[in-house]
Amino acid sequence: MRLANKIVLITGAGSGIGRVTAELFAKEGATVIVNDIDTTRGEETVQLIQNANGKAVFMQADTTDATSVETMIQTIIQTYSVIDILFNNAGISGIGRLHELEEDEWDRIMRINVKGVFLPSKYVLPHMIKQNGGAIINMSSCIAEIGLADRASYATTKGAVLSLTKSMQVDYAPYNIRVNALLPGTIFTPFVEDYLSKSADPDAAIAKVKTRQLSGELGKPEDVAKAALFLASDESSFMMGSPLYVDGGVVFG
Ligand code: NAD
Repeated sequence: MRLANKIVLITGAGSGIGRVTAELFAKEGATVIVNDIDTTRGEETVQLIQNANGKAVFMQADTTDATSVETMIQTIIQTYSVIDILFNNAGISGIGRLHELEEDEWDRIMRINVKGVFLPSKYVLPHMIKQNGGAIINMSSCIAEIGLADRASYATTKGAVLSLTKSMQVDYAPYNIRVNALLPGTIFTPFVEDYLSKSADPDAAIAKVKTRQLSGELGKPEDVAKAALFLASDESSFMMGSPLYVDGGVVFG
């Protein structure tokens, strides 16, 4: 087991990539703190893990709210004494060209996708510094490195997360803390289903997305979960501040 006895917090683990990663980490021996803003979804993830004899608890918190994040981290430390791995996964999509975007839509995506990485990191890092070790995985996207129509606000947030990852790594390397980023391509989750379904011709939209990836297929949450497991485990001990692409080759397409 690659994460035996590890205490792991995954934000946005009530759906998609976060849920499947929580299930995989639990199978690898971790105790998973399943965070989500949505209680029903988060508790479903915990049930799935417990049905497979894994260890998980749900903690509701909005990753953009400092009080709620600080309380969650305090509860984890009071219960388990340590926090070994933080996966900053929660995020939302955003569509539209800049001149058509409302200011509050811009603020919302920046808040959830960037502040939502800052706050859990801010409250977890003092404990990782104290325990002299830890691994943080930040969810970026391949869109941080390519241009895509109608996605400027989302791309900006994921570029910020990639940049933040590198600076965090420099600041916290002296404390034996590794900080790496995941850069998925299009992964078939509720997040993607939702924006494809809003298109005038969803089948054509899916076909178009597939052609962007050299693999010719959409990724699966499991593809990203396996990469997250690698970054969380000691197998990636020489990876520091790295962007890990899980994108079916989209950055080369
Ligand atoms: P998803 O919509 O299936 O799951 C996201 C989860 O985050 C939801 O359960 C939601 O309730 C939760 N969440 C949203 N805001 C939150 C908040 N403020 N606090 C706590 N929880 C919150 O999405 P997904 O496709 O699994 O995406 C997960 C992450 O991966 C996101 O950061 C996304 O940007 C990123 N990503 C996804 C893809 C893709 O193609 N699916 C590609 C690249 C990157």
